[in-house]
Amino acid sequence: MHHALEAWLRAAADRIHEAAPALTALDQAIGDGDHGINMDRGFGAIVKALDDRPPTDPHQSDVTASADLLKLVGRTLISTVGGASGPLYGTAFLKASAAVAALPADPAPSDGLAVTTALAAAAAGIGGLGKATTGEKTMLDALVPAAEAARAALDGGADAVAILTAARNGAAAGAAATIPMLATKGRASYLGERSIGHQDPGATSAALLLDVLAGVVADVAV
Ligand code: ADP
Ligand code: MG
Repeated sequence: MHHALEAWLRAAADRIHEAAPALTALDQAIGDGDHGINMDRGFGAIVKALDDRPPTDPHQSDVTASADLLKLVGRTLISTVGGASGPLYGTAFLKASAAVAALPADPAPSDGLAVTTALAAAAAGIGGLGKATTGEKTMLDALVPAAEAARAALDGGADAVAILTAARNGAAAGAAATIPMLATKGRASYLGERSIGHQDPGATSAALLLDVLAGVVADVAV
């Protein structure tokens, strides 16, 4: 799983870089116009941290290696991204790391269980730090439906590819559903009613990250 995670982070950095102008344009409509810049800076720093990382211990379990990787990502985002999204996404990755590390080791958890656990912890971490919940026009409107769709798929016996496809679809629908919402958290809330009619930048980047993850895991599985 940690190889797929690393492939995801590198592919995500490319997609974020391409999408940075579009993310920034969304943030120009309802924020301060830096979301694409913030995400591009953060994911650029993640790629550099991956490149600079000493070789991982080959005796480490896959779960430990994955948890270490998620922790590195969380720390990197918190230390390099100035906007609200840096600490929020950073915390999401740190909470995902802790939750994956806390899974019972024997038998080794399936990738589907690990990813479902990580998504739930990420969403809860953002909700806790941002004092936010769904319906407030934030990244949670993509991540909570994604986490719920992953859980439903896991409980239905789906494998990691199907779980992530469900999560990706949940995030995409959730991001689109932010358009008519009134923002009540973050900078967009300063606009009041004028926040209505625009898709939330953070929900959009969250959906993009899950789209890349679903694609990478589907590629690895074939
Ligand atoms: P900033 O708002 O500091 O300029 P960004 O533009 O990078 O930071 O990120 C903005 C995104 O952060 C928003 O689109 C929203 O999804 C998310 N966000 C802002 N505040 C909160 C919060 N309290 N809880 C959850 N997400 C939030
Ligand atoms: Mg902004």
